Amino acid sequence: MNKAVLIEKAEQLHRLKKSEIAALLSDNTAGKMLAEAANRVRKRYVGDGVLLRGLIEFSSYCRCNCCYCGLRRDNGKAKRFRMSEREIIELAGQAKDYGYQTVVLQSGEDAFFSIERLGKIIEKIKELDLAVTLSIGERSFNDYKILREAGADRFLLRIETTDAALYTQLNPGMSYTERVRCLKDLRSLGYEVGTGSLVGLPGQTIDSLADDILFFQKLDADMIGIGPLVTNPDTPLDGNNCGDVGLTLRMLAVIRLLLPEANIPATTALETLEPGARIMALTGGANVIMPNVTVGEARMNYALYPGKAEVADTPQDCNSILMTELHTIGRYIENSKGFRKHRH
Ligand code: SAH
Ligand code: SF4
Repeated sequence: MNKAVLIEKAEQLHRLKKSEIAALLSDNTAGKMLAEAANRVRKRYVGDGVLLRGLIEFSSYCRCNCCYCGLRRDNGKAKRFRMSEREIIELAGQAKDYGYQTVVLQSGEDAFFSIERLGKIIEKIKELDLAVTLSIGERSFNDYKILREAGADRFLLRIETTDAALYTQLNPGMSYTERVRCLKDLRSLGYEVGTGSLVGLPGQTIDSLADDILFFQKLDADMIGIGPLVTNPDTPLDGNNCGDVGLTLRMLAVIRLLLPEANIPATTALETLEPGARIMALTGGANVIMPNVTVGEARMNYALYPGKAEVADTPQDCNSILMTELHTIGRYIENSKGFRKHRH
């Protein structure tokens, strides 16, 4: 089947076989047609509103050693910080003042933030009438349950890659089965579940990216974040190429076609590699932006990858530059808590 036929099939049926997904992902002439179809599906299912979620990066300590990430335990060059409970709650208050209705609390896997501590923080933030998303890594079913009961609404945990062998190689000491267990637990506890993958990992194949998309469909993920690998020289992946922006955008578009209702962010990693790619993502299937509300030293030191902190995604930028940009593409900022819209 040629690409036009495949794209039309995906647009109408929201289903493709693995080989068909792989054919679209590997065709670097398919980008424009895919983006246009994804843009139509985005408009039809989730509308023209762009959801803003304020990102608070509250700790750069991490017990894990993911080979791609600057916060990995063995990176002696990483500057470590931890915000106090008060600082986190204050930032959430600022996010509220900026008009956001939802915050994402993200950190390395930091045992200092016990379930009790996190629970208290979540309860305080919920008093501000904000939706709370957690992105704090792997925990037990019971921990996730307590956090959910404390008021957490959503959870982001990328599978990173569904190639289990590659996962084990790049995430020493971690287990693919355990990662999947976490996602299933989160689902069964009633969280809105976000997952996603990194594009451009060394050894990653197009076939495995196609598997990633089928995995998101099977999980019925509510949110899917796809970012290119931004090589960090302070990690074992030093010297590897960064992920391909075109491939990442094709991946994003195919995801919109196959999971039409999902909330899909235009990720910071895309914008870091190619300024302007965020708008390309928004016109090619994405409907979410996560402006970083972290300020000062914490923002500089939460260095998953180089260039991240410099991306113009502060609330101020989002209110000025982005508003104008969104206007030119016929979109607007949606004032809502941003839960998934169920249309079918
Ligand atoms: N510790 C938590 C949340 C912080 S990391 C967790 O791992 O879930 C958030 C995401 O950053 C990861 O899921 C990973 O996909 C992404 N990331 C890490 N290093 C990166 C890099 N070098 N380039 C692009 N994205 C990266
Ligand atoms: Fe830690 Fe997350 Fe980075 Fe892995 S990706 S090292 S878990 S912060």
